[in-house]
Amino acid sequence: MTERLLPIADSHVDEALGQALHAFADELYPICRSITGNGVRQTLALINRRIPLETHEVPSGTQAFDWTIPREWNIRDAWIRDRHGNKIVDFRKHNLSVLNYSVPMSATMTLAELKPHLYSLPDQPEAIPYRTSYHQEAWGFCLPHRQLMALDEGPYEVVIDSTLEPGHLTYGECLLPGEVSDEVLVSCHVCHPSLSDDNLSGIVVATELARYLATVPHRFSYRFLFVPGTIGSIAWLARNEAAAQRIRHGVVLTCVGDAASFTYKRSRRGAADIDLAFEQVLRHLPAPGDLVDFSPYGYDERQYCSPGFNLAVGCLMRGVHGEFPEYHTSNDNPGFLKPHSLAETVSVLQQVFEVLEHNATLRNTKPFCEPQLGKRGLYRTTGGTGPNSENMAMLWLLNQCDGSQSLLDVARRSGLAFRTVVRAAQALAQAQLLVPVG
Ligand code: ZN
Repeated sequence: MTERLLPIADSHVDEALGQALHAFADELYPICRSITGNGVRQTLALINRRIPLETHEVPSGTQAFDWTIPREWNIRDAWIRDRHGNKIVDFRKHNLSVLNYSVPMSATMTLAELKPHLYSLPDQPEAIPYRTSYHQEAWGFCLPHRQLMALDEGPYEVVIDSTLEPGHLTYGECLLPGEVSDEVLVSCHVCHPSLSDDNLSGIVVATELARYLATVPHRFSYRFLFVPGTIGSIAWLARNEAAAQRIRHGVVLTCVGDAASFTYKRSRRGAADIDLAFEQVLRHLPAPGDLVDFSPYGYDERQYCSPGFNLAVGCLMRGVHGEFPEYHTSNDNPGFLKPHSLAETVSVLQQVFEVLEHNATLRNTKPFCEPQLGKRGLYRTTGGTGPNSENMAMLWLLNQCDGSQSLLDVARRSGLAFRTVVRAAQALAQAQLLVPVG
């Protein structure tokens, strides 16, 4: 309600920002990431050029609740060579070509021996699939199905120059203190190799939000986590059980750069302020977003919403994981990522933060019949015409603000934009018709 809070942002989509975020995603695209290893470190170093990032290293073998931090995986090169000496699969040409977390390998073998280690997509014969084997020692290659079908009996030279050794799991954290220690969490995963929408979109949007929030005053403290999926959020929660209790609102970002309209998955609580804030913002977009209920499958909201924590953390998506054909394939490439979508996602999150920052509970000081707005210069329509939206917001506020309803509640019930309700509340507070509760 006061100026010290996050200023009400313009909700227009900044196309130049979209181009800049797309360029950042392009820069991150070639890096071979995994749940551990130098790819994550390189990624965090590039984020750290834009925002102050604290990097944490958790040793292999560390216990994190029911999980153990795995050995660290790094890869230098990998290939399959045919009997003429041609590299027919080449890690350096596409890092999805290797089963992520493949153990080292060097052998010559026939097609029959090689085939159990080859992965392809029969229904998308031109695409390379993304496959991992984090928790079971394995090796393998991923290739277009069309290419797999054309292989002769061999023999083939198969080399994977990787290491799987005791090391660390790496994650990045950026805390922007506000006026209160209550926190808003923004979490994204940093463990996918060359995949644009599924992981890079969340990284570049989260980085931009942290950069923006560092430049404006805000009431809440904001914590940004750049973590390897699943094991990274589990490691963070295990090391920060006390800090986690300060998280009042949170969102996991995933697949937020494609051309689809928004889908927001509610927190396990179902009707937390973060859930209502997203519902409010998404319903007022030109292409209203979908809301889906919590389910224990998806991204790191699974960990934040595990019953021991039960944090108010939802998940914002555009394309829904597993439901679009580019998902987890080489077609999730920079061309699949839309600058406009990235910028629009930033705008939506700024609007959600604005709701969280400005939401308050107020009380009408003149609850016996309507106070006369005209004599206070607050009612500006000509007699006979209907009230404008700001006047409607005032009438709703004066009627609903009995001390039990928040500004977000009023916006939801009235169908008005949150920003309209806040502006009207500010005018009524200035006229002493509304006062804060508590
Ligand atoms: Zn994924």
